[in-house]
Amino acid sequence: MCKTHVLSVSAAKAPFEKTTIERRPLRPDDVSIAIKFSGICHSDIHSAHGDWEGGIFPMVPGHEITGIVTAVGEKVTTFAVGDRVGVGCYVDSCGECEYCLQGEEQHCTKGYVATYNSLDYDGNPTYGGYSQHIVVSQRFVVHIPEQLALDAASPLLCAGITTYAPLKRWQAGPGKKVAILGMGGLGHVAIQFAHAMGAEVTVLSRAKDKESEAKSFGADHYFSTGDPETFSKLANRFDLILNTVSASIDVDSYLSLLRVDGTLVNVGAPAEPSQYHAFSLILSRRSIAGSLVGGLPETQEMLNYAAEHGITPQIEIIRADQVDEAYERILRSDVRYRFVIDISTL
Ligand code: NAP
Ligand code: ZN
Repeated sequence: MCKTHVLSVSAAKAPFEKTTIERRPLRPDDVSIAIKFSGICHSDIHSAHGDWEGGIFPMVPGHEITGIVTAVGEKVTTFAVGDRVGVGCYVDSCGECEYCLQGEEQHCTKGYVATYNSLDYDGNPTYGGYSQHIVVSQRFVVHIPEQLALDAASPLLCAGITTYAPLKRWQAGPGKKVAILGMGGLGHVAIQFAHAMGAEVTVLSRAKDKESEAKSFGADHYFSTGDPETFSKLANRFDLILNTVSASIDVDSYLSLLRVDGTLVNVGAPAEPSQYHAFSLILSRRSIAGSLVGGLPETQEMLNYAAEHGITPQIEIIRADQVDEAYERILRSDVRYRFVIDISTL
């Protein structure tokens, strides 16, 4: 066992404190990683605040991890000491079910093991990336391409794959009109991917002052959702709306912006259930869908794609003692566009 310093919360909504936990001894297929940066995803807040059921405390959040390999088990073939690596939202799956065999470990029929707030297959709680060190099976570790800095790359491990995967699946590309709803951590990366894929990209945001930044990320159009005219102007326009909003939305209003056969894909995960009118779907044969992060092969593909296309999260680096304040700022949407913890300050 190896002791490591972490930032943890003892109960829902408790402040962060510096504590220590034990990481498991290296197994033959394990990679030991010195964590350098850990992004703060809004899911960390939902989890640490107990928005979703079943929080396991004490909790060490963090699933946007980048760092350097410090040791490898004897059966590790694809990583070596000194490699620049990342770990995302989960750290184990059965490896045998139809979904694992397709590289869609997030749909593992046994249930994947999340990077934190989860129990591993031995029944031990998992602890995430607000930590100096982590031990992860090589199947759940990815290479960070040389072109990507370790700090700016960290949000790609969740925000990146969560937006890249549905944009690809629902074929954002030339000739497609795609709206990105909500311009936060996920949204600002989604704009960059949708633009790189060749879609015509519209941003729908409550904010009135993000237009120039949205356009710098590759948006073609920007509309404020606070302006009622937005909904009449954009009626029946989009093939795809990617909803990245962390709170409940008026689903019918957004469905009305989809053309025939258009799809509203939810990645935002508010605690409350959503409601919509059946006619909002029926009349234009529209669909509502959801998407959960992405599999490991696709995560590596996304990182390589980001490196090739110069896609970089815009980050604000913070110290370990600023995480409580960062959570408050995220809840006020006062973040441009992802806080990343410099783990050397822990
Ligand atoms: P974030 O950085 O806080 O961004 C969320 C954005 O939603 C905000 O910037 C804001 O955009 C908009 N928003 C927030 N509150 C709102 C409200 N009350 N009404 C309307 N719009 C509001 O969060 P994030 O890290 O991008 O995560 C977004 C959501 O995705 C969270 O629920 C998170 O748990 C979820 N998530 C899901 C997955 C998955 O696999 N499906 C993975 C990661 C995260 P504007 O200011 O531009 O309006
Ligand atoms: Zn996340």
